[in-house]
Amino acid sequence: MGFTNNKKILIVEDEQDILQLVKHYLEKEGFRPVTATSGLEALKKVKEDKPDLVVLDLMLPEMDGLEVCKRLRSVSETAMLPILMLTAKAEESDTIVGLELGADDYVTKPFSPKALVARVKALLRRVERAPSSEPDLYRYGTLTMNLGRHEVSLGIQEVPLTAKEFGLLEHLLRHRGRVLTREVLLNAVWGYDYYGTTRTVDVHIRRLKQKLPLLEEAIVSVKSLGYKLKDLDVSG
Ligand code: CA
Repeated sequence: MGFTNNKKILIVEDEQDILQLVKHYLEKEGFRPVTATSGLEALKKVKEDKPDLVVLDLMLPEMDGLEVCKRLRSVSETAMLPILMLTAKAEESDTIVGLELGADDYVTKPFSPKALVARVKALLRRVERAPSSEPDLYRYGTLTMNLGRHEVSLGIQEVPLTAKEFGLLEHLLRHRGRVLTREVLLNAVWGYDYYGTTRTVDVHIRRLKQKLPLLEEAIVSVKSLGYKLKDLDVSG
């Protein structure tokens, strides 16, 4: 496939030797690395440089990686930005929190630079694989969503959904495997000029789960952030 390595990668790490090592290996592979050495600088660089992916260390001065991750996920411009976390073995519980806060993957220190580059590539590929234009059909387990006909079915049984439920399900399917904040879902489905609260999203998620029981386990609530539809390897 036409995968190119000229993507801009923001590396956030306060330990200079690790920072330089990662930078060196990414450059060698043709990536364009930019760097930050603190959490606040990371947020600034994301805004200014608009990287395609962030390699984010957990332990950082001023603001730690978890907070950076949370902030990036809570605004729609960076809600979908791929984040690869760097963690130490001793920080395992933080790693789990990091994944819950929306990091896409993590690498444990000490790591081989080659392995890190491989994970960066894999994550970029995963993101590129996500359809940029709407497909006609999504399949998720026994669920089929036909966008053209505006139909959702479980097996052969058609399940009637309201327009908002349909829009919500479509957004979850399109971005499955990724954490979507309530704000992002609200903007995507209800629009920016909608005056309701993010509670609206919770109510509709609950209705979707009632109508489509297979989503009960598949849509997971992510601590204080939003929702994620678990990634099945599905077509669409
Ligand atoms: Ca560090």
